[in-house]
Amino acid sequence: MTSRISGFYKLSPEERLDKIADKIDLNEEEKSILKGDSKFSIKQADRMIENVIGYLPIPLGIAANFKVNGRDVFVPMVTEEPSVIAAASNAAKLAYDSGGFMTSYSGSIMIGQIQVTDVQDPYGAMARVYENKQELINLCNQQDPKLVSLGGGIQDVHVRVVHTDTEKMMVIHLHVDTKDAMGANAVNTMAEAASPLIEKITKGKVILRILSNLADERITRVRAVFENPFQDDQEAIDKFYKASQLAIYDPYRAATHNKGIMNGISSVVLATGNDTRAVEAGAHVYASVSGQYQSLTRWEKGENNKIIGTLELPLAVGLVGGATQSHPVAKLATKMMGVQTAEQLAAVIASVGLAQNFAAIRALASEGIQKGHMKLHARNLAAMAGATEGEIDQVVEIAVKNQSFKFHEMEEIVKSLNTHGKG
Ligand code: NAD
Repeated sequence: MTSRISGFYKLSPEERLDKIADKIDLNEEEKSILKGDSKFSIKQADRMIENVIGYLPIPLGIAANFKVNGRDVFVPMVTEEPSVIAAASNAAKLAYDSGGFMTSYSGSIMIGQIQVTDVQDPYGAMARVYENKQELINLCNQQDPKLVSLGGGIQDVHVRVVHTDTEKMMVIHLHVDTKDAMGANAVNTMAEAASPLIEKITKGKVILRILSNLADERITRVRAVFENPFQDDQEAIDKFYKASQLAIYDPYRAATHNKGIMNGISSVVLATGNDTRAVEAGAHVYASVSGQYQSLTRWEKGENNKIIGTLELPLAVGLVGGATQSHPVAKLATKMMGVQTAEQLAAVIASVGLAQNFAAIRALASEGIQKGHMKLHARNLAAMAGATEGEIDQVVEIAVKNQSFKFHEMEEIVKSLNTHGKG
C-alpha cells in the first residue's frame, strides 16, 4: 500500500473517501460514519460529557505521503485550521524517497504524583517509603489486574522532597506502565488507593493524588532526512537553518515554532479521541526542561544539501481508554492508520509534527506563509465578510483571480456581488 496518491487534493471529498476506502478497506458503514451520514448521536455525546445539548463538527482530512518506520500510512487529521494538512502532506513527500520517518520510543511509563504535607521528618519518611516500596507496588497493582495481565502496572516508586514557601513537602512518584492506554485514570486510581498507606508510612497528610502530564518517561523521538529540498540553493538552506536556530534561543519564536508542530500533533491526537490538552501540556513543559523554553525540534545540514530533522517529545496517547474506543470516528481513525499499539500511534503523530515543522520553517524562511495560507483561508474570510453559502465559491474565485485576500477586499467582493445580484 502506498500513501502517495497523485492529485489527491484536487478530488472531491467523495472521490477522496472512495480512494482511501479502496486502499485501506473501509466498508460502506465505515464510509458513512466518516461522511457524517450515520450521525454521531446526541445519545452518544451525552454518554461522553455532561450537560450535552449538541456537538461541533470539525473537518477530518487525510495527510498523504507519510512513510513511518518503513510503512506507508494515511494520517487522519481533525482541525479547523486551513493549510495544516496540505503542509504536512507536502513535507512528507519530500522525506518519502529517503525512507520517510524513523522513530524510537522510551516506553509507556506514566507518573502519578502523591503530595504529602505536614511531615515531621521528610527525609526519614522518604527512606521509610523506599523500605516499604514492595507493599506499595502490590497495593497499586491490585487496582488494575487487567493492566497487570497485559504486562503493565506499577514498575517503580520514587520520592522527592520539594522545598516550598511553607514547608518541605514530599512528593511520591508512582511510575506506571500503562501499555496501550494513555493511562490517566489507571494512574489516578492507583494514586488514590496508595494514599492511606503513604499517610501511615510518612505520618503526613496527603493532598493531591493525580497523574503528571510531564510524561518524560514516555518519549517519542522521530528523525527524517529531507533530500536536497532546496535544490542546492545555498541561500535558501542557510535561511532555513538560521530560522530554525532562532527557536532554540528565543522563547518568543519558540512558542510559535512549537505551536506549528502542535498544529500537526494535536490534529491527529484529536482525530483518535485522545486528550489534546494532556499532550500539549507535556510538550510545552518538556520544551522548557533545560530551564529555558525552546524548540522541540533540531535541524541539521547533512551532506549533499540534505536537511536532517529530529523531534523529541512526550506523547501520552492510547488506543484504548478515554474516548478512543467510544467515539466511532476516533475508532476508525486508528483503524485507518493501521496502528496496533500506542507506540505505533505515537510514531505516526510525532512524524506529522516533524513534517509540519519542516513545512512551516521552509515557508517562513522563503515566501512567507501568508500567500499559501490566505488562499486556503479565503473561504473562512468570505463567510466572515457576509457571503452566503451559495456565494462563497464565487467570492473565493474572484479573490484568487485578483489575489485579494484582505478582509476589506472580501467585503468589497461580497458587496459587489449583492449589488449586481439586486441590479
Ligand atoms: P481508561 O481508564 O478509560 O482505560 C484504561 C484501562 O483500560 C486500563 O486501566 C486497563 O485496565 C484497561 N485496558 C484494557 N486493555 C488495555 C491495554 N491494551 N493497555 C492498557 N490498558 C488496557 O483510560 P486511561 O487511559 O486510564 O485514561 C485516559 C483518560 O483520562 C482520558 O480521557 C483523559 O482525558 C482522562 N484524564 C486525563 C487527566 C490528565 O491528563 N491529567 C486526568 C484525569 C483524566
